[in-house]
Amino acid sequence: MSSCLFCKIAAGTIPATIVHQDDTLVAFADINPQAPLHVLVIPRRHIATLSDLGPGDDALVGSMHRTAAAIAQAHEYADRGFRTVMNCNADAGQTVFHIHLHLLAGRGLTWPPG
Ligand code: 5GP
Ligand code: ZN
Repeated sequence: MSSCLFCKIAAGTIPATIVHQDDTLVAFADINPQAPLHVLVIPRRHIATLSDLGPGDDALVGSMHRTAAAIAQAHEYADRGFRTVMNCNADAGQTVFHIHLHLLAGRGLTWPPG
């Protein structure tokens, strides 16, 4: 989708600090990190919200989570702990309408979230 910020990052037309990429996913550092490690894992394909996933996307969503866990492991946060979050629509604070899994690690994360 040509107007989408995260489609542009996936295509490489807007720069980002890429930490992982493969045929279906890109992971990059959040521009406004909320923890020492704050990475966004996105599908290359434009999907606006979690509610727009179809039954054929189960493997894609699984690979987003496995990739987040692998990045946490690579940064040696796996044992200490990390959080993955996907915000959906306004009340959850979604601001970019291309699904992204937040990976947060490196500090104690409170619960419940704000
Ligand atoms: P949301 O609020 O939609 O769940 O999360 C959007 C995230 O995208 C925010 O954490 C925000 O800091 C991040 N973000 C917004 N614009 C950019 C950008 O241009 N580059 C990067 N790397 N992250 C961005
Ligand atoms: Zn997009």
